[in-house]
Amino acid sequence: MWKRATTSMAERGSSRSIMGCFYTLFICMASIIHANGIPWTQEKLEHRAVTLTDDEVRAAVSHTDLEQMWQRDLRPLLVTRYPGSAGSQSVQNHIKTTLGSLGAGWEVTEDTFVAQTPYGPLPFTNLVATLNPSAERRLVLACHYDSKYYPPQWHGREFQGATDSAVPCAMMLELAQALDEELKAQRNTSSNLTLQLIFFDGEEALFQWTSTDSLYGSRHLAQKMENTPHPAGATDTNQLHGIDLFVLLDLIGAPSPRFGNQFPNTAPWFTRLQDIEKRLHSLNLLVDHPNSVQYFWPDHRLGHVLDDHIPFLNRGVRILHLIPNPFPSVWHTFDDNEQNLDRSTIQNLNKILQVFVLEYLNARPVVASNPGNAP
Ligand SMILES: [Zn+2]
Repeated sequence: MWKRATTSMAERGSSRSIMGCFYTLFICMASIIHANGIPWTQEKLEHRAVTLTDDEVRAAVSHTDLEQMWQRDLRPLLVTRYPGSAGSQSVQNHIKTTLGSLGAGWEVTEDTFVAQTPYGPLPFTNLVATLNPSAERRLVLACHYDSKYYPPQWHGREFQGATDSAVPCAMMLELAQALDEELKAQRNTSSNLTLQLIFFDGEEALFQWTSTDSLYGSRHLAQKMENTPHPAGATDTNQLHGIDLFVLLDLIGAPSPRFGNQFPNTAPWFTRLQDIEKRLHSLNLLVDHPNSVQYFWPDHRLGHVLDDHIPFLNRGVRILHLIPNPFPSVWHTFDDNEQNLDRSTIQNLNKILQVFVLEYLNARPVVASNPGNAP
């Protein structure tokens, strides 16, 4: 930004335009340099999360309710929902209605397009929910809501795609509901950091995985975000610059998952998830989580996994890819259904993710005062 401005200044050559340029530069710098002295696009590199107190952690996780999530968020997602299907439409409505009903005031936008597939042109819709659209920086949580398409010869058997990825999407809806008060309060601060939830369509290959038959939604949205100035009217920055960290959840819900870390530039955030897991364990806030169980393994390397983060990664976005290694044994089988989900694991991961999000957003939950200690 700096360099481009000064080059055009030299080319013009007149002292009048030099003065004009200095003025423009001054205005420009005043708008991009924040109080801490660095451009907003660099703030993500220096970002420090708060660490909640024990009482705040207890307060934070007290709002999450697995049974409610199951009935309210997950069940409506466990339908056949390949792109363009009636199930896809009902899932989209479910996501929009859920987020629209919350007090935090989510803005939900649709990214709808038609793409060529092995079965001809099909409609796709990504859903993007933003807590505070005027905030420059976004912590992104993402999942895919489409289910893998199985042709009619499988008639009579329904592929639910419970871990793939109904559960991750339900976890995101549950997070929005459990933390509604905290997110509402955070939205009303002057913070230039907010939360964004992305529900991708068309992650699955419709016929067989290739670079064109897969990741329909994420390829489209990454391109679109790259082409969308951000903040509005910006000439040098786009919506991808606004992503602090892109946290992709996939294949979650089977017992004993092990998440490894793929990306050195986000390793401190991955380690933070491990620290939160340890902390909740020590506070007895996790269920069926003995000392021998550990979900997050910062030194456990993952191979190259093709998933919705790739179009963003290729454009320089910082990624946390929360996908277990190995994949769940039910992956892409008809056994990836509700019966084979592990409730304790999902409940524990909900809590870990919710604390992570609050801490990242510097959003402290309100701790109810103990009436016994009141003066
Ligand atoms: Zn899949």
